[in-house]
Amino acid sequence: MIPSGKPFLPDLKIYEEYLSGIWARNHLTNHGPLVAELEQRLKAFFGVKHFFYVNNGTLALQIAIKALDLKGEIITTPFSYVATTSSIVWSDLTPVFVDIDPLDFTLDAERIESAISPVTSAILATHIYGIPCATNRIQEIAFRHNLKVIYDAAHAFGVEIGGKGVLNFGDISTISFHATKLFHTVEGGGIATNNDELAHRINYMRNFGHQGYEDFYGLGINGKNSEFHAAMGLCLFPHISTLLNRRKIQSEHYDKQLTLASSHLQKPRLPSGIRYNYAYYPLIFETEETMLRVRDALENEAIYPRRYFYPALTRLPYMKTQPMSVAESVSGKVLCLPLYHDLTLNQIGDICDIIASQLIR
Ligand SMILES: *Cc1c(COP(=O)(O)O)cnc(C)c1O
Repeated sequence: MIPSGKPFLPDLKIYEEYLSGIWARNHLTNHGPLVAELEQRLKAFFGVKHFFYVNNGTLALQIAIKALDLKGEIITTPFSYVATTSSIVWSDLTPVFVDIDPLDFTLDAERIESAISPVTSAILATHIYGIPCATNRIQEIAFRHNLKVIYDAAHAFGVEIGGKGVLNFGDISTISFHATKLFHTVEGGGIATNNDELAHRINYMRNFGHQGYEDFYGLGINGKNSEFHAAMGLCLFPHISTLLNRRKIQSEHYDKQLTLASSHLQKPRLPSGIRYNYAYYPLIFETEETMLRVRDALENEAIYPRRYFYPALTRLPYMKTQPMSVAESVSGKVLCLPLYHDLTLNQIGDICDIIASQLIR
């Protein structure tokens, strides 16, 4: 059986060494030494001024929204994981969708301005599949209209834009280290900013608002993560470049094996000047019917691609919205092919043969 993804697990012995340390110290959570070490190493890896390791990527988004003190409406993408939209609604704000770019599937910057209203306070966009948004254009629009910018960089571990780590963009960027992500800590997430004042707010907000044991700065929540989760991240750290390189080789093999069928397929376009992480391998078929036929053929061989993202977020039961034709069309026709560290090139060859057999007849 070939799943769509599989978490990378380190050598158990190495994890056990971290466990022995946790047992010896008896310090399980509340910003222990492993959390502090992971936070420092991730901050250096991402090349950002401030980085906060928290318990998941959804809470990271919610804290980002609170820290920026947003009000009213937030312009956002209908093509992302549900957490991007639900975090806005959870904060009692109103998501306003803007359709995606038909070529790279990120929020279409050219459509943002017509969606701005007097109560718009921010733009929340996702670097979907790790593909960076049009960050320059979005920043320009945000400046002109005095809006804050948050990037949901849950997919974008290791991505660079013009040589700069992807978490340097926007007022705040968030990331997820969930087990399904390229780099994971079982559960986990992070918040990055280069703004000192925001960093101060995020720091107390993720720890109940505490300032020392008996004092409080302001409103906070429990955003802490544990030593056990941090240990997983520290175990994965030495494998990062192997994981990224492996994904690149696998993705290029998919590309090569699919060339015969490629006139029937669309892949998102990568902008120039970036370092991509090959986090996912999304393919857009000509019609939903073709996609379903391919999926059935793969599932018959115990290969399980994922309809990621389906449905479009316009279909959420708590969202009232205009139809978003590009997002709805893409989400109806997309399949993410299996991609994980120990997927072999032969398996990729088999997957591509099955796909081609359904397209070229
Ligand atoms: C995974 C994901 C999240 C949520 O992260 P969790 O750590 O699972 O809470 C948010 N946005 C996107 C785009 C994601 O893929």
